[in-house]
Amino acid sequence: MVVLANRLPFDLEPQPDGTTKARQAPGGLVTALQPILSRREGAWVGWPGTPDTELEATTTDGLTLEPISLTSDEVDQYYEGFSNATLWPLYHDAVAPSEFHRPWWEAYRRVNDRFARRAAEVAAPGATVWIHDYQLQLVPQMLRALRPDVRIGFFLHIPFPPAELFNRLPWRRQIVAGLLGADLIGFQLPGGTRNFVRLAKSLLDVPTSGGRLNYDGRTIKVGAFPISIDSAAQSALAATPEVHDAARKLRADLGNPSKIILGVDRLDYTKGIDVRLRAFRELLAEKDPSVDDAVMVQIATPSRERLESYIRMREGIERQVGSLNGDFGKIGRPAVHYLHQSLPREELAAFYVAADVMTVTPLRDGMNLVAKEYVACRVDGGGTLLLSEFTGAARELRAALQVNPYDTDGVKDGLRAALNMTTVAARRQMRSLRRQVLTHDVDRWAESFLSALEGTRDHVTEAR
Ligand code: UDP
Repeated sequence: MVVLANRLPFDLEPQPDGTTKARQAPGGLVTALQPILSRREGAWVGWPGTPDTELEATTTDGLTLEPISLTSDEVDQYYEGFSNATLWPLYHDAVAPSEFHRPWWEAYRRVNDRFARRAAEVAAPGATVWIHDYQLQLVPQMLRALRPDVRIGFFLHIPFPPAELFNRLPWRRQIVAGLLGADLIGFQLPGGTRNFVRLAKSLLDVPTSGGRLNYDGRTIKVGAFPISIDSAAQSALAATPEVHDAARKLRADLGNPSKIILGVDRLDYTKGIDVRLRAFRELLAEKDPSVDDAVMVQIATPSRERLESYIRMREGIERQVGSLNGDFGKIGRPAVHYLHQSLPREELAAFYVAADVMTVTPLRDGMNLVAKEYVACRVDGGGTLLLSEFTGAARELRAALQVNPYDTDGVKDGLRAALNMTTVAARRQMRSLRRQVLTHDVDRWAESFLSALEGTRDHVTEAR
């Protein structure tokens, strides 16, 4: 199998002594895919995270890393530009305005073509090629033209938007045609699938019936495959004495408050960090709870730091944290502990175990793995999850306290309810959440996608 994703699972940094340093790349996609790929022999084609660097392919544990090199201009235009300043906001309900620039589109096409050519080189005859996410939506069609023998799956990790938003894209037809090069196109939710099918019909006149589209003489399957985590490994990690001790120490370091409220997010405007800070602020202003009873810990992983919208958002959030602490903190007892850092899995697990209330309040999120990780870590059966209804996870994690992040009173009520939930009610909630997360793990996700993809070949053969 060949996997294509914008990033390799490891950032490879060339060192002055000629060696290469490998560091796990950030983000949910790597967390989800790495356990699957490490169990199969295959190749992973992606960018190693440093511009203007040519690196050779390397093989570790049966997995060959195939680095795609990008120039600094391509990082600006294909990655930060078209992927993260055009597509990302557009696909997330346009919660920030999208920018449309023709040179960005040209760079996107050029880089997609580079990925397709490399995949065509490394894929064995009849291989399965699994392409991931919004940065590579043209690759299915490009690869099919080069290698009609391979089976192509595409999975979109972020939401697929409705026509009202997608149609703003000047290159909307090219993107839909690009995706239709796949044999199977997977989305997180049925809503994304429906949006795509409608657009294929309206933009390219594609006939559809029962989850199958006909285009270019081929049959393409579409469907929803909600992604998950390695739930058993996450639970096992949380159950180790090291994590247990680290969680206890964390609680003590925070001054043993009765409640710890936690947020863990990439610092992104889709994540609604401001929403939960605002709600917490209002609760503190009403002294329900007081800063003696509850503290908030917000881990905000640095992300896309060169983009103007991210710089502005970071300033806004840090201003909010500063004013919360200024207005409500005491010496030795800030209201919000804010870490602008990326933490390793083990440390993060200790935060999950220590937190009484986990706040996940995105304005829009394809899935949100953090919510599932929190649940998987609660081997003790405790803890409460406050979850935005606009995350993909909300569809599965029905038992969570769900809120509309645009409704400040609603979030405030939800946070208060979470803080005051009885132990019995919290345990009942967590039991139900754990049942869901432990039975729907990342293996099940990958197997269901890959077996649906397998089915397409028979179908393609039948159609011929
Ligand atoms: N994460 C991490 N260290 C951090 C913060 C987050 O390793 O300091 C991981 C987290 O455990 C999760 C992923 O980053 O697996 C975030 O995935 P999610 O789907 O929640 O959001 P995304 O960043 O993909 O939008």
